[in-house]
Amino acid sequence: MTGQIVILLGPPGAGKGTQARMLEERHGLVQLSTGDMLRGAVRAGTPAGLAAKAVMEAGGLVSDEIVLAILKERMTQPDVARGAILDGFPRTAGQAAALDRLLAGSGGQVSAAVSLDVDDEAMVDRVSGRYTCASCGEGWHDRFKQPTRAGTCDKCGGTEFTRRADDNETTVRDRLGAYHAQTAPLIAHYDALGLLARVDAMQEIDAVARDLERVVTETTARA
Ligand code: AMP
Repeated sequence: MTGQIVILLGPPGAGKGTQARMLEERHGLVQLSTGDMLRGAVRAGTPAGLAAKAVMEAGGLVSDEIVLAILKERMTQPDVARGAILDGFPRTAGQAAALDRLLAGSGGQVSAAVSLDVDDEAMVDRVSGRYTCASCGEGWHDRFKQPTRAGTCDKCGGTEFTRRADDNETTVRDRLGAYHAQTAPLIAHYDALGLLARVDAMQEIDAVARDLERVVTETTARA
């Protein structure tokens, strides 16, 4: 693992997944979403998925042990050597320490951590209306990002969409609580290490992408 490692921090709805996918397309970095990995494990009915399901539906954090096992396995795959955008990981101090150990094992380290700064109340609206194309994974929203033709994905022409079980108002509030209690302290942690950048993620998607692009380009220049 020698490529760039960029961490996206931010509460549910801040746009981590959307921005990670855009960076993946533009920079060839691989999006590593522990949320996607866990949802995959739930669908596949693996022991990790079975253990994680109820916690995820309640908006809590899955144990570090389960998340780390699933991430470690993904990180052994060769594509990750190009560098990665971590979307939704680390979410606890224990996960941040484990990530450092994992990267150090292959001579790597965290390149940058970006806090996507948003207003909590707006996140409830953002998350509650969002859905995803079942074919290509593109994200859409009932109010903020509708496909040009209703019911058809602009990106791939797919007509089937999915909504996450935890994207409802009650669970989002619990997820925001978990973020502030356990994940937000990582902002100060990465700041103290000189690795933190902040982006105003209340802006339009493309403006956020431009700001992030700048951070990633500066990080590449430093490497
Ligand atoms: P996300 O797709 O990142 O919003 O994650 C969805 C849910 O998966 C979270 O609400 C948690 O229950 C669980 N999850 C995802 N990533 C982690 C992580 N790094 N640590 C603990 N739980 C996680």
